[in-house]
Amino acid sequence: MSVHISIRHSFASTSRYKPHYPQRCGDALNEALYSTQGYDGWRPLDLGCGSPVFSRLAALPALTKRELRARGPQGFVPHGRDIAEGLAAHEIELVATSGATGDQVTNVWYQPWWNASEAASWQLNAHARAVATGAHREAILTSPWCAGFPYEDGYLTMEQRTLGRFLYLSERSDPSSWSSDLMDRMVEELNTFKPVVLEANPSFLAGLSRHIVRRRLHVRSPALIVLTYENPSVLHRRQIRRVFDAPMASSYGATEAGYVFMECEAGRLHQVTNTCHVDFLPFAPEHGGPEVGRILVTLFGNPWRSLVRFDIGDVVRLDGHAPCPCGHREGLTLMSVEGRTVNLTLTPESRAVTQGAVDHALGSVTGLVEYQILQTGPSAYRLRFVAEGPPSRAVGNEACDALQAVYGSAAVITAGPVEAIAPDPPGKYCLSKKLEPIDPDVLLDGKFAPREC
Ligand SMILES: [Zn+2]
Repeated sequence: MSVHISIRHSFASTSRYKPHYPQRCGDALNEALYSTQGYDGWRPLDLGCGSPVFSRLAALPALTKRELRARGPQGFVPHGRDIAEGLAAHEIELVATSGATGDQVTNVWYQPWWNASEAASWQLNAHARAVATGAHREAILTSPWCAGFPYEDGYLTMEQRTLGRFLYLSERSDPSSWSSDLMDRMVEELNTFKPVVLEANPSFLAGLSRHIVRRRLHVRSPALIVLTYENPSVLHRRQIRRVFDAPMASSYGATEAGYVFMECEAGRLHQVTNTCHVDFLPFAPEHGGPEVGRILVTLFGNPWRSLVRFDIGDVVRLDGHAPCPCGHREGLTLMSVEGRTVNLTLTPESRAVTQGAVDHALGSVTGLVEYQILQTGPSAYRLRFVAEGPPSRAVGNEACDALQAVYGSAAVITAGPVEAIAPDPPGKYCLSKKLEPIDPDVLLDGKFAPREC
């Protein structure tokens, strides 16, 4: 096996951090390499404590879900802690995820760390800082398979869907099959429960918002809407905004990694530097780099979970402009999360197109309610869409023109209206994807590409 000796560059050295931050990165790295079994194979690659920590991180591979599955949850528990003992003491739980990118991963769930990560994210948004106390009433509208109480064959009472300060608005995971009565019930419950925060999967809340407009219902706005579970579409945000006047903030993270970025009141996404470090790996210029790239997440301070350079599977766009008007300066700042790597498509000339680029193009199409684009061949694209208002043929034509501008004149785009678009299991919408998935490693700028395991 050949050994790469090329220098790996790190974007982190260009970001601003508080003085103690590199030490926290070093502590997380040393704990992984020298106190956690899952990183045994990485130890020989360490540049050593004499090197800057960002260079040490950049010299290491990426940690993938495949490795999390192969080594199991115990492989990433540091300092010889024992999962069986933690479970017996009710200190931890095991939580299985079925992420959109692949197979199931079993995570060790330590609630106090999760709460700390969430509370740190609230500090990055003025509205959240003002109203999210940790004791506030919160309604949640997402797939019950992600959070809540799934019950697909019948209905549960409000009491059965309430857990402490949380109310889970839906026991059904497919908004395209929600009945009118079910959505009326959600509105009634929002009006009586009076949540301070409404945490919602944006496509789910957009569906409910369209129902509220159609039926001319009154709904009480919470103090803050937090969009999470999936990346919000321009269309979804607009549909929600027609109904709710509360400020909206997109919260970005993962079951494996906690809260990683939070949208501030100025619309940019700031890294949650209290609980994680983020390595940015830019794409090659022809694929949108150096502003667009992938991210790897390293956790701080979770006694039950050591994750270093975890490939969270998303594509982001850096904000390279003037400092954010919100005043926050620390860590990475993003213009946007551009979608998951599985949502990438290619132009006929094999240049990467993010879900965000597709969404931006389709965001201004009159009468477009929902869509899904599938790349079926090197230059073939199929658009399914839901239209409202103008004739669907006109909506389809305008959408095809918008996509032609993204994919170029060689692209062959077909469009067909549908009644509704159902989410993929466990309940997340896919706005774009390629039938034959793209290997995201080939899109990276070689100077930043992670070392092979
Ligand atoms: Zn900001």
